Amino acid sequence: MDFTKIFQSQKDFFNTHKTKEVAFRKETLLKLKNILKENENRLYEAIYKDFRKGRFDTFLTELNLIYNEIDFFLKNIEKLSKPKKVRTPLSLQPGKSHIYYDPLGVTLVIGAWNYPYSLTLIPLISSIAAGNTCVVKPSELPENTMHLLSELINTNFPSNYIHVAEGGIPETTELLKLRYDKIFFTGSPKVGKIVYEAAAKNLVPVVLELGGKSPAIVTGTADLEVAAKRLVWGKFLNGGQTCIAPDYLLVEESVKPELLQLIKEKLDEINYSDGAEHYTSLINKRSFDRVLGLVDKSSIYYGGRSNGETLYIEPTILDNVSWDDAVMQEEIFGPVFPVIGFSNYDEILQKIIEREKPLAAYLFTKDDTEKKKLLDFVSFGGGCINDSLMHITSDYLPFGGIGNSGIGNYHGAYGFLSFSHQKSVVEKATWGEPDWKYPPYNDKKLKWIKRVI
Ligand code: NAD
Repeated sequence: MDFTKIFQSQKDFFNTHKTKEVAFRKETLLKLKNILKENENRLYEAIYKDFRKGRFDTFLTELNLIYNEIDFFLKNIEKLSKPKKVRTPLSLQPGKSHIYYDPLGVTLVIGAWNYPYSLTLIPLISSIAAGNTCVVKPSELPENTMHLLSELINTNFPSNYIHVAEGGIPETTELLKLRYDKIFFTGSPKVGKIVYEAAAKNLVPVVLELGGKSPAIVTGTADLEVAAKRLVWGKFLNGGQTCIAPDYLLVEESVKPELLQLIKEKLDEINYSDGAEHYTSLINKRSFDRVLGLVDKSSIYYGGRSNGETLYIEPTILDNVSWDDAVMQEEIFGPVFPVIGFSNYDEILQKIIEREKPLAAYLFTKDDTEKKKLLDFVSFGGGCINDSLMHITSDYLPFGGIGNSGIGNYHGAYGFLSFSHQKSVVEKATWGEPDWKYPPYNDKKLKWIKRVI
């Protein structure tokens, strides 16, 4: 595939100004939605073949979010793309000031494998809504979903507007050599650095949606029943392969036995057995081996079984884990949940602060002071109080990381802004201008300037 040719054709198409027409953007989004709806069964089949992800989970965590994003833009593009009038300071009077939301040009979206539809299509939707052209590079690991995405997009849209490029590292390396107007990358911090470096060579702006270790904290004041239920759901959804999954659990010692017992009951009740429709396998053998390699058998409180044939790992809870254990040194990205007890809340916050800034943090508490301390002192991408994962589902909240967990954000209007340039324009009247800004200067003019500014 000649990426340079596609890139150039998208540049040429962008310069026809067609993508800037709001009606054209809406038409494209509606067409995309219809294509996905018509092919829903094929989308379910492909993802099931790739890592046994079931229909309900695929609808809830992928298609539903994609449809919502399209609907949000169908409703809001006019408003978002309209120049915004802002105040004009006295020094610029008489005049008026506007922010114009300019499309950027040719954009590149690189996706991670774990939510193969939403992590490629939601940035694509934002890019289209903002009036750009787009090359999408899905992850090569779930190959059935990659092929299907490429078929559905490439047979229905011209490649000079939207194109899915298939491939792994060599193809992505080639793609990254081109001078896009924006690169939107979702993946690991390690590859994020490679993307950032390649983008820097051409001064291409980036959004990096990365990962890391996201803590969940349960304090002595929490509703333990609610905490157990919501943590089990958030941790083991998608087989624990969610960027914002609670990576590890910090629980106040006084309630630890009760919380662990409740978690155990929830796990038994849901029954995450091998082959269950609501439970997802690991993506490949490499990942399966890596995650099992993090399990210290002497710490297993619950679970621990696995099946190398189906790449199934049972939800596994590790108790009495220490900060130095292997499982605490890297993002787990699998169904293993280490638990560390604590007796001093402030100290535990300090431990989090000393590590890389997490993509997400979750706190279960009924105490406002505890809540305030987390929000005031700990830097993290986003999160929930008394829930897990759900902040990602709101169009009204920017989604993104900070520090090692990412740069920039998207979802709803924030995605539109990430794929737009905010062009600031002052429009001056041709009359009524005082002449104090023009030389030659004198003390009287300086006095005036000081007064006005
Ligand atoms: P990854 O970084 O291995 O791969 C992501 C993409 O980069 C893929 O398309 C892959 O083909 C490409 N790639 C891989 N190596 C490359 C290289 N050397 N040069 C150029 N391109 C390369 O990530 P992954 O395994 O697909 O996903 C898991 C990671 O992504 C986790 O860290 C997870 O937390 C993170 N993630 C973040 C979000 C988010 O929204 N912040 C969402 C999902 C996943």
